[in-house]
Amino acid sequence: MTMWEPRAESLPRKELERQALEGLRKTLGHVLDNPAWRRRLAGAEPGDIRTVADWLRLPFLTKDEVRDAYPFGLSCVERERVLRIHMSSGTTGNPVVNPYTRADLDQWATVMARCYAAAGVGAGDVIQITASFGLFTGGFGFHYGAERIGAMVIPLGAGRTSLQLQVMRDLRATVLAGISTYPLRVLEVAREEQFDLDSLSLRVAILGAEMWSDDLRRLIERELHLTTFDIFGMTETGGPGLGIDCQAREGIHVWEDHYFCEVVDPVTGAPRPDGEEGELVVSTLTREGLPLIRYRTHDLTRVVSRSRCACGRTHLRMDRVRGRTDDMVIFRGVNFYPRQIESLVLKQSGVGHEYQIVLDRAPGGSDRLALLIEAREGFTQAGLPRLRADLKQFLNLSPEITVLKEGELPRPPGKSVRVVDRR
Ligand code: ADP
Ligand code: ZN
Repeated sequence: MTMWEPRAESLPRKELERQALEGLRKTLGHVLDNPAWRRRLAGAEPGDIRTVADWLRLPFLTKDEVRDAYPFGLSCVERERVLRIHMSSGTTGNPVVNPYTRADLDQWATVMARCYAAAGVGAGDVIQITASFGLFTGGFGFHYGAERIGAMVIPLGAGRTSLQLQVMRDLRATVLAGISTYPLRVLEVAREEQFDLDSLSLRVAILGAEMWSDDLRRLIERELHLTTFDIFGMTETGGPGLGIDCQAREGIHVWEDHYFCEVVDPVTGAPRPDGEEGELVVSTLTREGLPLIRYRTHDLTRVVSRSRCACGRTHLRMDRVRGRTDDMVIFRGVNFYPRQIESLVLKQSGVGHEYQIVLDRAPGGSDRLALLIEAREGFTQAGLPRLRADLKQFLNLSPEITVLKEGELPRPPGKSVRVVDRR
């Protein structure tokens, strides 16, 4: 199993920790040039950071602060040095703007090249990029990494699934890169068009940008006959490439010489011990345009291991992201995550992969929960009691279940919308 940067990816833990401290001090020194950061950090100086414990005394950076700084309030370079802007969708307020310098673009290509190598993808591969190119980081991130490793790129971008299938087959794409639920769309269109999936040469899919359950992962691998890799990142950290799982599949390697990760209690902010779930907090060690110091990501994960992996990499492994602190749904005092419903839906036969959870308030004031699913070939009403029983038994939920015709739920070109909360 080859690494892109074998030395850097297999550094002894002591050396990784030394580099982290050095990077933390450098980042702190860099952000202090911006008065807004100086105010936030109330006198902290790089010289104060002698151990990791010193770092943990700095204040968290919240998503709201980053949004409120729109567009360049927390940016740490002069305009002339900014080569590129990426932005998050901003569905809940101002968008997050990330200005990239030349060094940031280069850093991005490097971490993405490492991710491809971890997925066993190299110069001989043909990578079809199915994520959109634009303000969203997905398309460009996959592109830069692919160029760096010298693979052939098909930058098709999002949507146009019939064309995607045709091109994938005719140009013999070996790697599909995209957002986690896109393979479902591929399967669906292939079925509609009676496209022969055996005519494809795909062997790897690199997927991320949204939560995908283990069940969904198994389904994609089974039906497309390939191995999937889970890639992670976000606009704030510079896009995809913060980490990826390797062939050992025991967690996502976080590139620790570029990102310093903590897992904290989402309520109190206190550190969680390794192995326990909490909110991921990220500091960047090498980013220039929008460096992060203790950024609260809202993503839930845990540290799986800090020891050397079977693949030879020493960088810590975190669990696949299972949900977000803000996608937990509370319904009549019962907490659940969309992924839990996904797993139960995928177990039903005669039911499609798509689902939507709709919450609203009845005129009388009580909350209502509806689950929309789609019928597939072979669907019978007789299957529903099992789904009802599972929902009750595992989640203590009794939603009203509506079975739609296949294709009736929306298929957005970007991330899927699993929860519609009208309360
Ligand atoms: P936007 O903010 O526009 O939705 P981002 O790409 O910045 O776009 O979204 C980043 C978020 O996407 C992460 O914070 C996380 O919640 C989710 N995400 C990214 N990659 C994964 C992944 N591999 N697994 C689960 N969730 C992911
Ligand atoms: Zn590994």
